[in-house]
Amino acid sequence: MQPVFRFAPSPNGALHLGHAFSALTDFARCRAAGGRFLLRIEDIDRTRSRPEYEAGIYDDLRWLGLTWEEPVRRQSEHMDAYAAALKRLTDVGLIYASFLSRAEIAAATADSSWPRDPDGAPLYPGTDRDLPPEGAAARVAAGAHYALRLRMDRAIAVAGPLSWEEEGEATVVANPAAWGDVVIARKETPTSYHLAVTVDDAVQGVTHVVRGRDLYHATSVHVLLQRLLGLPSPAYHHHRLIVDAHGRKLAKSDRDTSLRALREAGATPADIRRVVGL
Ligand code: GLU
Repeated sequence: MQPVFRFAPSPNGALHLGHAFSALTDFARCRAAGGRFLLRIEDIDRTRSRPEYEAGIYDDLRWLGLTWEEPVRRQSEHMDAYAAALKRLTDVGLIYASFLSRAEIAAATADSSWPRDPDGAPLYPGTDRDLPPEGAAARVAAGAHYALRLRMDRAIAVAGPLSWEEEGEATVVANPAAWGDVVIARKETPTSYHLAVTVDDAVQGVTHVVRGRDLYHATSVHVLLQRLLGLPSPAYHHHRLIVDAHGRKLAKSDRDTSLRALREAGATPADIRRVVGL
């Protein structure tokens, strides 16, 4: 079977040196493996995604010398696929509607010993986990804001032990419990990064995921969802991150490292490779 790689940027800002490193690393590995290279536009967040950023992604990647198969998969066009996966999880009792606001979550988890997820956010306190289903449905019907969360303890019990193949490491034991009851969908966005990426990697037949180290721990959630949804697990390579002079991960708001700004200032693709150490 021919390997399948993908690059999956979100069109919510200009691509920067970190994206260039990620895309070039991904593409080089794909070529070395004789694989197919796919591009996916992760635009489920309709408030932050903009067509001009999507157009900028194509310009920047072409300029760097990447080529990909058409058609590009745009997540916003596949909400039905995520809804079907969500229904599957709901039908087996793994999803509940949670109603706490950000402020209420902060208040309930203010104790300094409250457990935090790998991104540093407090685990959801789960106070509305066991609302009677009619009560939750009535609040949803009344227009309340809600997030649909995974019952993590039950999900882990159903899934059993989980691991993934990380290139250059021994098999990694997954620890989805570290994330608590993760959000799987929201009222205003009826899917989530975790659900959409899991469904899409399977739908697109992705065999190799190359992405930044910042998503290493999220892989525990992805392999859990793969198991629950009966989907295959790709192999993973989480690469180093490009950091600024202060050792911080680059952000899309740092305009001076955007590929477009660098290109307009006269940089060449070879310069970009050199700056990111390729
Ligand atoms: N869309 C994500 C990002 O731009 C990447 C998702 C992934 O590669 O799994 O950070």
